Amino acid sequence: MGELGLPAPIRELAAKTWDTIVVGAGHNGLACAAYLARADQRVLVIESRTRVGGACTIEEPFPGVRMSPCAYLAGLLHPLVVDELDLPRRGFNWTPAVNGLFVPFLDGSSIQLWDDDDRCEAEVRRLAPGDVAGWRAMSDVIRRLRDALRPTGTGDLWIGEAPTPAQIEVRLSADNEALSVLFDWSMAEYVEHYLRDERLQIAYLGQGVIGTNASPFDPGTASIRFHHASGRLGGIPGMWGYVRGGMGMADLVILMAQHFGGMWGYVRGGMGMVSFYFCDAALESGATVVSVCRFRKFCPAKEWSSNAASASPQEPSSPTPPVCGVGLP
Ligand SMILES: Cc1cc2nc3c(=O)[nH]c(=O)nc-3n(C[C@H](O)[C@H](O)[C@H](O)COP(=O)(O)OP(=O)(O)OC[C@H]3O[C@@H](n4cnc5c(N)ncnc54)[C@H](O)[C@@H]3O)c2cc1C
Repeated sequence: MGELGLPAPIRELAAKTWDTIVVGAGHNGLACAAYLARADQRVLVIESRTRVGGACTIEEPFPGVRMSPCAYLAGLLHPLVVDELDLPRRGFNWTPAVNGLFVPFLDGSSIQLWDDDDRCEAEVRRLAPGDVAGWRAMSDVIRRLRDALRPTGTGDLWIGEAPTPAQIEVRLSADNEALSVLFDWSMAEYVEHYLRDERLQIAYLGQGVIGTNASPFDPGTASIRFHHASGRLGGIPGMWGYVRGGMGMADLVILMAQHFGGMWGYVRGGMGMVSFYFCDAALESGATVVSVCRFRKFCPAKEWSSNAASASPQEPSSPTPPVCGVGLP
């Protein structure tokens, strides 16, 4: 699933004039390609692996067992992108991950950190009654950050140019707690500021190191907690969800099969689907997505024309991709 090859010989692709070449068919590269192609740019996406999706993909490690081995939850996918690229029409469907986190402790106790505030507060009260007020304050600073920096409607700082630190500070006015979460605190400082029960502190520590090569004691890791709670998937603040397959998949597979001569298979859901929807949107917008080839060298136009005879590009002929020299027009 998600594997694709060359839609035309390398020689042909290299001879064309492209306005933009996107390197990497992860979901970000594919989404960029879709937007650029919609703006009438001629776009080529090149991918060094045999399948699209990058970290957001689906693999079959054992026959018949398909899974998303890396990214598995959608959350920061912007509702604007979902709408503009018409992802629901391509089959994008998801289930809110309302159960949140179940955290067992070595002493035999445990806590279920529900997504729902009331249910979560009841769990905090059961485990650590003295921490209820602190837990509320800890949740509230995240809500203040989200509302200030990523409000609904216009004004979401994720849209458009990246904001400067000064612009962010203006939004947060004199909210020093929020500024500390965003710019200074480690995740350990964050939980210690609000909570006393060590088990409850530990339960939240992992939320500060998602996707990063850092420890919860490293400065700045508290901002990762905010980052992951800043989305509004489905219009729900901070919500994450499992991407589903289902009937929408049938349309996608037919569409893909038209593009790639039936090289696509059927799969029941998974986060990788997000990338495949983006791939579909990019292709439909007019972008070309190329895989199964690695590029050793990009030659500028001049160098290409003088070396063209000796550096003739090749098509891959075996499952092991050859290294190709490709000239950019
Ligand atoms: C273990 C783990 C779990 C995660 N879980 C989640 C999750 O549940 N939910 C979530 O939203 N996010 C999750 N993330 C983060 C998410 O996977 C990334 O934010 C996302 O994949 C980034 O997408 P991308 O398109 O920018 O890059 P990538 O997904 O990394 O894609 C880059 C692509 O470029 C290709 N490439 C690189 N160099 C070249 C080259 N020179 N030539 C051609 N192709 C090249 C790569 O092969 C790859 O396909 C997780 C990350 C990790 C590591």
